[in-house]
Amino acid sequence: MTISHLLDELIHSTYYRDQVAWIERLPERAAQYAEPKQPLHPTLTSILEALDIRQLYTHQTMALDAVRAGGHVVIVTSTASGKTLCYNIPVLETILEHPGTRALYLFPTKALAQDQLKGLLRYREALPDLPLLAGTYDGDTPPNTRRKLRDEGNIILTNPDMLHQGIIPNHTRWGEFFSSLKYVVIDEIHAYRGIFGSNVANVIRRLTRICRHYGANPQFICCSATIANPQELAENLTGVPLTTITGDHDGSPKGPKSFVLWNPPHLDDSMVERRAANSDARDLMVELIRRRFPTIAFVRTRNGAELLYRYCQEGLQHHSPSLARSIRAYRSGYLPEERREIERQLFEGELLGVTSTSALELGIDVGSLSASLMVGYPGTISSTWQQAGRAGRGTEESLAILIAHNTPIDQYLMQNPKYFFGESPENAVIDPSNPYIVLGHLRCAARELPIGVEDETLFGEYAPAVLDILQESGQVRPLNGKWYWTGGGYPASDVSLRNINDNTYTIVDTTGDENQVIGSIDEIGAFTQTHTEAVYLHDAETYFVDNLDLAQRIAYIRKADVDYYTQSITEANIRVDQEEVQRKWNKTGVHFGDVTVTTTVYMFRKIKFGSRDSIGYGNLDLPPQDLQTNAVWLVPPLGTLKKVKEAGRLPVEGMLAIANVITEVIPLFSMCDVVDIGGTVDSSNTGVPTLFVYDKYPGGLGFAQKVYDIMEQVVEGCWTLIHACRCEGGCPSCVGSPVPIYVQHGPDTEIKGRIPDKEAALVILHDLLGKEPYIPKPVTHPRVSMVEVAALPEAPKREVKPLPESVELRIRQRVQGLKKK
Ligand SMILES: [Zn+2]
Repeated sequence: MTISHLLDELIHSTYYRDQVAWIERLPERAAQYAEPKQPLHPTLTSILEALDIRQLYTHQTMALDAVRAGGHVVIVTSTASGKTLCYNIPVLETILEHPGTRALYLFPTKALAQDQLKGLLRYREALPDLPLLAGTYDGDTPPNTRRKLRDEGNIILTNPDMLHQGIIPNHTRWGEFFSSLKYVVIDEIHAYRGIFGSNVANVIRRLTRICRHYGANPQFICCSATIANPQELAENLTGVPLTTITGDHDGSPKGPKSFVLWNPPHLDDSMVERRAANSDARDLMVELIRRRFPTIAFVRTRNGAELLYRYCQEGLQHHSPSLARSIRAYRSGYLPEERREIERQLFEGELLGVTSTSALELGIDVGSLSASLMVGYPGTISSTWQQAGRAGRGTEESLAILIAHNTPIDQYLMQNPKYFFGESPENAVIDPSNPYIVLGHLRCAARELPIGVEDETLFGEYAPAVLDILQESGQVRPLNGKWYWTGGGYPASDVSLRNINDNTYTIVDTTGDENQVIGSIDEIGAFTQTHTEAVYLHDAETYFVDNLDLAQRIAYIRKADVDYYTQSITEANIRVDQEEVQRKWNKTGVHFGDVTVTTTVYMFRKIKFGSRDSIGYGNLDLPPQDLQTNAVWLVPPLGTLKKVKEAGRLPVEGMLAIANVITEVIPLFSMCDVVDIGGTVDSSNTGVPTLFVYDKYPGGLGFAQKVYDIMEQVVEGCWTLIHACRCEGGCPSCVGSPVPIYVQHGPDTEIKGRIPDKEAALVILHDLLGKEPYIPKPVTHPRVSMVEVAALPEAPKREVKPLPESVELRIRQRVQGLKKK
């Protein structure tokens, strides 16, 4: 039996009737080869032949030609398409021609760097004379090896943290390396987004400056998974223009694959609850393994991986005890030896199944599996393709099934397969010029090398203003047109690449005998995700927060087996500080600018995993927080609001519904988490209930900026999600949970205790999107308040100042704080 026969059988069984929302048949694709413009170096040809590579795929050839022509390149390819050859070939060729040449390879994790090193060493096994000394340079590298690599290594594999704290600040010891640095390879660039990406972009700028100092001008070779904006991301990251080689040129062969969107059925006629995704996953996995199809199942949490493993084992026990022994669970909590053992067993076909967290998604080769089950949407399209790509390496037939949870995003995907299988709409967003991020890197840069006037702009528009502040506080001093570091210390140790280092809280795990620091979180995150009694997810494990100590800035957490998660309930008031730009859209305007968001986290909701039922509330006593950030806002036209009122409904309830949905929808268009952005409705700036979406980081990180560009798509996404939900008058899977009755600060007391108004939201969305007018269901209870809609005031006039006053104040405070260290 082939896997497509099994799929047919499943689809046509009565039990599973109507559960397949979509099948995308991805056809078999033959390999496409191409000859480079100039033949390969003969030694390289013989090495490749020894490794059984006799021809290059189209995209590999294009990359080689582009790099040989001296350009910077970004290659966008699928999993297992042979992308590493795109950089290894030009690098090795250059090393063969000019043995002194050096290359720097950057990977987001140590594990990936180590896996790639294994690949490189195979070239030397094929030709022991190859003048190649490659090694990983990270926290695990012993001092002797470090020195040898630094002095003689021609390919150094490292990660951004090591580059930032270990390599660039000590560049004088690396003079030899930097002066002969010809290539900087940045693999998996889609991993560099948000705060991490914005910081890494600044590290790259520091690297570029150091290279220039040593007379080198390295070429960048970047690789990315499929995202909407690989070129934009690569250019923001490296600061140079690049040539893009898109997936259209991917010449690697592929076997046929059926990609199924699988939606568990409703449990009853109320159309609210669905059967748990985990239960369908177990049945499918047992079925696949019974027929001897090696299968991997991806789940979101470690707990989930263990549970599914136990269920499958029980299920298989009925058929054969030996089959039950042929599956394992795989997750990041296991010891490295255990994990290597499972990888080996999978690779050699000793195992038929594994249930895993995303730990197995990247890099590591596990051989050829027949099927990949994804229990719930993995969060981004590129992750989904990576997980689906775990099945069907080579040209064999394979199956991928995405099993939906009953959540807004999962259900959106089930209803909009074109979204998933069409062109990727996901944008990876970074903002290298965020002044809070630039501050840290300017301090590092000044200590590394005096900053010349021509370098200032390298660090973005706010860099000169930030340098002035650093001068006032005595950390830099100008001399002959250059800024010199006078601050002392080792500023690189003040900058973590994963935080905006403002009021950071430490997360301490008290589970074991000894307390263990497992991470840090900024203040906004601490209040919303690690408040007392919160359930915190870390490394796919659930933790209970015993206490958030505000004075010491520590969250004390411990491992806990809970079947719910928590969602903080916040109230946000927004003040528009400065509008930067606006544009007309249909009958309305979309605006973008600097805002101050005052947030109070006053309670939290407990939500059951899976069903998303609210199972309780808790009160919190936390002080309000001010956040200076960027926001995009959408002012509904007066005519639209009038229509809502004429239908007997409250505009603010419709806008609240849209605000709830929009924060769920945005991650479909921009690679961010729901925790990166906030959405709220506020009337105080415009006089009408205005929808605000803001970045939850000081200075903003580019999410709201991206939403400004693609507002139409995002609003269309909101409409699709609400429109497609089959509930009566709104439910937690579309317009959100009821506004809690305990709200103290909100102006709209009458809407408390009610689910936001789905019908009002649809009236507004139809009008905004220029669809035919929506006729709402008649109101059972009058919702209209007597408050008249005020006239829309003029948009505030734009004024230009070098650094927003509020930002400047914060930067000054922070600089003072750093000085005291
Ligand atoms: Zn609904």
